[in-house]
Amino acid sequence: MATYSKILVAVDLSPEARAVLARACELRVHYRSELSLIHVVEPIVLGGDYDLVPVMPVEIEETLLQRAKGFLGTLVGEMNITDVRQVVEVGSVKHEILRFAEEQGCDLIVIGAHGRHGVATLLGSTANAVLHGTKCDVLCVRLGE
Ligand code: AMP
Repeated sequence: MATYSKILVAVDLSPEARAVLARACELRVHYRSELSLIHVVEPIVLGGDYDLVPVMPVEIEETLLQRAKGFLGTLVGEMNITDVRQVVEVGSVKHEILRFAEEQGCDLIVIGAHGRHGVATLLGSTANAVLHGTKCDVLCVRLGE
């Protein structure tokens, strides 16, 4: 029977993150796995004349990083989760999830998936990209429409 020693759970900053993390926690308990929680902040790309931007992109990025770290900390605290590694990366969501999973030797990725408009978009872009970009198992937690 399959067992998982290192689980990576990816969350956005929506209320649905709670359901995705809850499922990962159930699996962590069942398999006695290590758990890492990741959120990826996509880089700010500003077009036009930078002189007209009152706040420099690096400051915006820092604000987003702090917000993401605060969100993860609050989520973990509210759900009374201990022994979870909290990770916030900057970059492409798909790329950073896959990179972290590969580097850390994760054997299961837990991710949310929306059932939007029929089979073609069943998994959503992020879940789909992760599923097709990794060799490890992926559990998609079905979210709302
Ligand atoms: P989406 O396909 O973008 O609606 O997102 C589906 C799932 O991908 C979410 O429920 C999360 O599990 C994951 N996800 C989306 N955005 C991020 C992000 N910025 N960082 C980490 N995981 C994400």
